[in-house]
Parts: sequence; structure tokens; C-alpha cells
Amino acid sequence: MKVESFEQACGLNCFEILGNKLRVSIIKSLIKKPKTVQKLCDELKREQSAVSHALAQLRECNFVDYKRKGKEKEYFLKSGIFTKKMNKPLFEAIEEHAKKHCRVRR
Ligand SMILES: [Zn+2]
Repeated sequence: MKVESFEQACGLNCFEILGNKLRVSIIKSLIKKPKTVQKLCDELKREQSAVSHALAQLRECNFVDYKRKGKEKEYFLKSGIFTKKMNKPLFEAIEEHAKKHCRVRR
């Protein structure tokens, strides 16, 4: 895959979303198991507004999603690129993710 085509495609947006310490921390935490916003705040020692905003961005790319658990939302990793053993280079894996799952269109 050519880099020029990647930059025109949505995959670049997905990389931007991943390029953030808090969002990466959230993904790493959710690899272990699904969590509510409150649990993520406690674990990462960050304010709810920051964590909620990060989760909303991850959800736009369909990296995460949530299911309702009583009054709370429990977030889980939706994208397989963090959990499956990939047999592809990272750029191709992200591009495939973008085409199949990302909601952001440019
Ligand atoms: Zn995306």
C-alpha cells in the first residue's frame, strides 16, 4: 500500500485518534476487561470529563463501544486490531480498520 493513498484515506484519522497518551491508556486498560467510565477514571486518575471525551473520540473510530449496565455505560474494545494477532503491517491493519469500522469520513 502506498503512503499517499493512506494519507488520503480515513486511516490517517484513526492514527490521530490513537496518537494520545490518555486514549492509548484507555485501550490498554480495556484489553484486560470492559470497564465503566468511573472505573477508568479511578484507574487512570483522570477527571470524568477528560475520560468521557477520550472515549467519545475512540467510539467515533469504532475502536470502542459501550453497553448499558444499569445507569452506567460499560465500555469495551470493539476493534480486533488490539487483541487479535495481526499478520499484517500496522498501516495496512489500520487502513482495513478504517474502511470497515471508522465512522469518520473525510
Ligand atoms: Zn477513524
